[in-house]
Amino acid sequence: MAINILIVDDSTVMRAMILKSLRMTGLEIGETFQAGNGQEGLEALDDNWIDVVIVDINMPVMNGEEMIDHMRENPATADIPIVVISTEGSEARLERLKEKGAAFIHKPFTPETIRDTMQTMLHIEGDD
Ligand SMILES: [Mg+2]
Repeated sequence: MAINILIVDDSTVMRAMILKSLRMTGLEIGETFQAGNGQEGLEALDDNWIDVVIVDINMPVMNGEEMIDHMRENPATADIPIVVISTEGSEARLERLKEKGAAFIHKPFTPETIRDTMQTMLHIEGDD
């Protein structure tokens, strides 16, 4: 089944890099959506069927952690898998994100890291 993905990052270049990496993973990608901050991300979740959210932490208007908190509080979005992709180095924050059920990928990343994380999150068997 094709996976619909929402990419939330304030950098359009980073969103394009994430999307390109996703397309290299061999995963069956359905529709993709993009948002420039957490607020826009929540609006995209309201308007579309999304299977996985990939979210940056540091963004204007609403950061990634706030967006994740809103998602987890809303029954409609509480169970959607979340992958955080960030340069964030704060152990305390990473621990909090883990407790909220988010996987974490450090920037810079490789397409393989994205593929492996997505497969683990979505319980997809790898072919290697
Ligand atoms: Mg950012």
